[in-house]
Amino acid sequence: MIGMATRRTLLAGAALIAAGLAFPSSQAQSQANGVIALTGARVIDGTGRAPIENATLVMTNGRIAAVGPAASVTIPAGAQRVDMSGKTILPGLINAHGHVTVDDNTRLPMREHMMQVLQAYADYGVTAVVSLGSSTLVDEAEGFRIRDAQRTGTLDRTRLITAGMNAIGKTPAEARASVARLAAAKADLIKYHINGRADDMTPDTYGALVDEAKKHNLTTAVHVYFLKDAKLAIEKGTNYIVHSVRDQDVDQALIDMMKRNNVAYVPTLTRDLSVFIYETEPAFWQEPFFRKGLYRYQTEVDILKDPKLQADTRNSAGAQNIKKALLQANRNLKRLADAGIPIGLGTDTASPNDLGRWPGYFEHVEMEMMVQAGLTPMQVIRAATGDAARIMKLDTLGTLAQGKAADLLILNANPLTDIRNTRQIHSVWIAGRRR
Ligand SMILES: [Zn+2]
Repeated sequence: MIGMATRRTLLAGAALIAAGLAFPSSQAQSQANGVIALTGARVIDGTGRAPIENATLVMTNGRIAAVGPAASVTIPAGAQRVDMSGKTILPGLINAHGHVTVDDNTRLPMREHMMQVLQAYADYGVTAVVSLGSSTLVDEAEGFRIRDAQRTGTLDRTRLITAGMNAIGKTPAEARASVARLAAAKADLIKYHINGRADDMTPDTYGALVDEAKKHNLTTAVHVYFLKDAKLAIEKGTNYIVHSVRDQDVDQALIDMMKRNNVAYVPTLTRDLSVFIYETEPAFWQEPFFRKGLYRYQTEVDILKDPKLQADTRNSAGAQNIKKALLQANRNLKRLADAGIPIGLGTDTASPNDLGRWPGYFEHVEMEMMVQAGLTPMQVIRAATGDAARIMKLDTLGTLAQGKAADLLILNANPLTDIRNTRQIHSVWIAGRRR
């Protein structure tokens, strides 16, 4: 994962110097635009702590050198000061369940498409995405190349963390081989699917899969729908549940298991929304905040405008059933959050061959839906920043503190009074550089 050794160095020593050394030299040169001090803003640091009013945030070499109340932060001589009075600074959003892949609807060459998806995430303030599932081996390899280039060279858009292909096998031995291949290819984590269907891997098989992942020091994420599958996956040692439990209320037994095993939950509500919302043209297609992403979204908008496709959705039992499943998902999210289970933001945006999951825009819809499910704006911001990073073991991301990456989402309005204010974007900064 990203820079755990680096972080220890930073914590141990002089942050300014170490932060410069933390990047490869080419990146340090391109990002060493001196010292920048943002002054006068409200800072929400991503930990869930109360906001700091009239804060100062100093950054250099892509990292945060200092952050705190104005009275407690010394701005180095020669720093470039930027007045951010009236603004709110959050950590850049982290999507703990997105995708960066090509599919049948992709019109651009593979690499250009992936770079455009990462641009869309970045434009909307999502500064890191965990891609949980490539569509092909070729696509997987391109994702790893883009990720590796980001970590050793230029970082000019959303940070990519990727699981590569889903791990799978018909037998325990095959599942182990699948994980071993991904580990050798340097996947950041392992994802697998349990759909509640007859062709699912058996618990023995995915138990071997999870065990093999642990041997390679990789965490595991499972896609589930049913409560019983969530429990079995946790029994086998899976680290987090992506997608909601949607067949029934989560029970105390699940909560106890999640706590005992430190299992996190990524509800991914917008995925379910996308299954039925295009039965007509959704109002949000007219929202300016959506339309600024049309450079990426237009192809799918055109497909989803088709009246026949909309009628098919209206007449699809599966699509209509998801409406109920989403209500169930909302109840379960509230119950798990109330129980103190770590929650991470996830959307399933840009997943292969699924239409209408908008990378960038949907992360903001997801946050709004999480508030509608009963979480406070602060809980949701924490899920989208500090907790998403903690769950995914992205030690340098997700909170605003000395030594952390200077990935910022700066807003013109306070999201604690209305979560829709996350859409009032003033600017997005990645590794200390304004986009
Ligand atoms: Zn997914």
